[in-house]
Amino acid sequence: MRQQDLFIRALVVAFNCILGAAAVAAPTGPDLTKPFFGCDRTVGAVPMLSILWDPHRPTDPAPAKADVERLLFGKQHSVAGYFRENSYGRFRVTNAGVLGWYDAAKPAEHYWSTDDKDADGDGFVDGHVEKWTEAIRQADKEFDFARYDRDHDGTLSTRELAVHIIIPQNGSFGTNRGTAGREYPTLEPLVVDGVQVPVIAESYLGAPPDLAVVVHELAHLMLNAPDMYFPFAYPYGAGSYSLMDWHGYCSHLDPFLKLRLGWATARVVTESGWQTLKAVEKHPEVLVLMDPSHSTSEYFIVENRWTKDSYEQALPDSGLAVWQIVDDAKALASIPAPRGCDPSHWATVGADDWGRRAVRMIRPVFLPQRDDKLALWDGSDPATGYDLRPLSHRPERATLRWADGSPSCFRLRHIPASGPVMRFWVGME
Ligand SMILES: [Zn+2]
Repeated sequence: MRQQDLFIRALVVAFNCILGAAAVAAPTGPDLTKPFFGCDRTVGAVPMLSILWDPHRPTDPAPAKADVERLLFGKQHSVAGYFRENSYGRFRVTNAGVLGWYDAAKPAEHYWSTDDKDADGDGFVDGHVEKWTEAIRQADKEFDFARYDRDHDGTLSTRELAVHIIIPQNGSFGTNRGTAGREYPTLEPLVVDGVQVPVIAESYLGAPPDLAVVVHELAHLMLNAPDMYFPFAYPYGAGSYSLMDWHGYCSHLDPFLKLRLGWATARVVTESGWQTLKAVEKHPEVLVLMDPSHSTSEYFIVENRWTKDSYEQALPDSGLAVWQIVDDAKALASIPAPRGCDPSHWATVGADDWGRRAVRMIRPVFLPQRDDKLALWDGSDPATGYDLRPLSHRPERATLRWADGSPSCFRLRHIPASGPVMRFWVGME
């Protein structure tokens, strides 16, 4: 063996040792592969059937079908593009068909009324339920629902086929709802081509069409993503920084969802050190700060929101986003009201309302009220790059606290100006 070969072999052995040492030293993070309240790994393609249904309200004219198709599957500013960017290409919405515009069979006001005893004998008491049934039966005349029932269990799961009903309306709005083939005198499932369609998303498009509302509803339908908005003042809400909270922006999903969906990966931090994060809009890596002496099912997630040239470029702030997570379904019910949140308000949040209970955004500034322009940690902003101040002057509000209110040992220091790459110190102190 020549000397050069020996040298290369020695290098390979040394390299393997380094790799081996790194593998041993890597801290064990939370098990993000197990489902959390029905939200689990969602990668690959989901076909979507879009049904365009028009009740012809004179005040709310329908846009051209081509405009709707562009909103759904266009190269830019589209449903398909939004999910492609958020998932780093791991999840795709594919086009099973865009059908319609179908004309409503009855006058518009019929669908916005209820008919408790089904006096008109059409089998429906809720006009909205009747509307979805009618739209799907119209689509059935030219669409084979059965071929999407891949597991042949007689029911279309939302991952086998996402059924999305689109309705013209100047003001945008949306829901996910269960369907019925008939409501009165007995409730019957909605079955077409021998398969049940149990749930739909509907989008009232808005004028101009409101992509944020459409992708919010589809995230419910296809990803089991939870709502995160609060009907009361709440200092830890995601606000503009999650699609599932505020509808005004095409914000990315929060990093806990991205981890659970199998889109992002976690770099687990259990000791002090320098960390570098690239823009999460383009790079699927986030930090999980875990203190095993406290818990392995409660942790902080840090991501770098650098919104330029992304679906969320209109967001009002950029910098590090810090989230506190209670990754323990059983513990959610007993989480006390967070500091600054009225306990009587907190008591109205259901024990299994995990989008609101398990995920908190920890803002550098949230009192006297939160401000989405001061939501992310940015060293170039004296209001949010607080870590540059001496310890004795650091505002108490910036402590990263656990859900029970006790302070954690984690400190973020030397936070640089927000940018596409941020290097900072994570201290366990
Ligand atoms: Zn919602």
